[in-house]
Amino acid sequence: MNQQNILKINNLHVTINNQSIINGLNLSINAGEVHAIMGKNGSGKSTLAKVIAGHPSYNIIKGNINLKGEDITLEEPEKRAHKGIFLGFQYPLEIPGVNNIDFLRLAYNSIKKANNEIELDPISFFDLINHKIKEINMNETFLNRNVNEGFSGGEKKKNEILQMSLLNSTLSILDEIDSGLDIDALKQISDNINKLKCQTKSLLLITHYQRLLDYIKPDYIHIMDAGKIVYTGDFKIAHQIEKEGYNFIL
Ligand code: ADP
Ligand code: MG
Repeated sequence: MNQQNILKINNLHVTINNQSIINGLNLSINAGEVHAIMGKNGSGKSTLAKVIAGHPSYNIIKGNINLKGEDITLEEPEKRAHKGIFLGFQYPLEIPGVNNIDFLRLAYNSIKKANNEIELDPISFFDLINHKIKEINMNETFLNRNVNEGFSGGEKKKNEILQMSLLNSTLSILDEIDSGLDIDALKQISDNINKLKCQTKSLLLITHYQRLLDYIKPDYIHIMDAGKIVYTGDFKIAHQIEKEGYNFIL
C-alpha cells in the first residue's frame, strides 16, 4: 500500500544569531508512522521541533519543509497549526488569567474556522472536552483552572496530551514529553499517546531517554548530532544507546 507522505524535510539549514544549528537535515514521515529523534543535549532536537512548527526566531537559510506535499517553509506558525501541525512543549507555558477550557475552545475553533468547518459553542464544546478528558483519565477540575498555572510537571504534560487529542492534528510533535515524569506518570502518558495513535496520524517524539520508547514503540529512531540526522534505525537501537551511550554511532 502506498502511504501518504506527511512531512518531508530536505537539506534543511537553520541559523539563529548567525550561529548554525541545523546543518543539512533530511527527514521523511508517512501517515500512521511514529518516529523518534534522540540525541545529546544541544544537538538541535528542540530547534528542529520549533522550526517545523514555524517559530519566528530561527532563520531557514537553505532547504525546505513540506507538509502533505505542500511547501510550508515560509508559512506562518498559525497557518501551520491550521494545516495540522501540533507541537507539545518541553516546558508548557503557564497562562495566568486564562481559563483552560476557554483556551482549548479558542484553539479548537480557530482550526475549525480556518478549515471552513463547524465551530462549537461553549455547551457543545463542554460535551466534547468532557469526553476527551475522561479518555485520558484527567480530572475535570483542570478545565476550570488557568492554563497550566500551578499544575505539577506531570499535569502540564497531561494537559499537552489533552490538547493533542482535542486538535487531532495530522502531525503531532512531542518534545521531551517524558522529562520530569516519574515512572507511573510516564506509563500513563504513554498509554494515552498510544490510544491516540491511528493509521492516518503521524507522531514525532523527541527524547533523550530510552525509557519512553519502551512504552511507545516508534517505527524509526533517528539519532541527531550537530544539527543533522546521522543514523536511522528501529526501536532496538534505543537500548544500545542506553547501554553504550551515543558513542557507538558517533
Ligand atoms: P536539544 O533540544 O537537542 O538539546 P536545542 O535545539 O535546544 O538542542 O539547541 C541546539 C543548539 O542551539 C544549542 O547549542 C543551543 O545553545 C543553540 N540555541 C538554541 N536556541 C538558541 C538561541 N535562541 N540563541 C542561541 N543559541 C541557541
Ligand atoms: Mg531540547
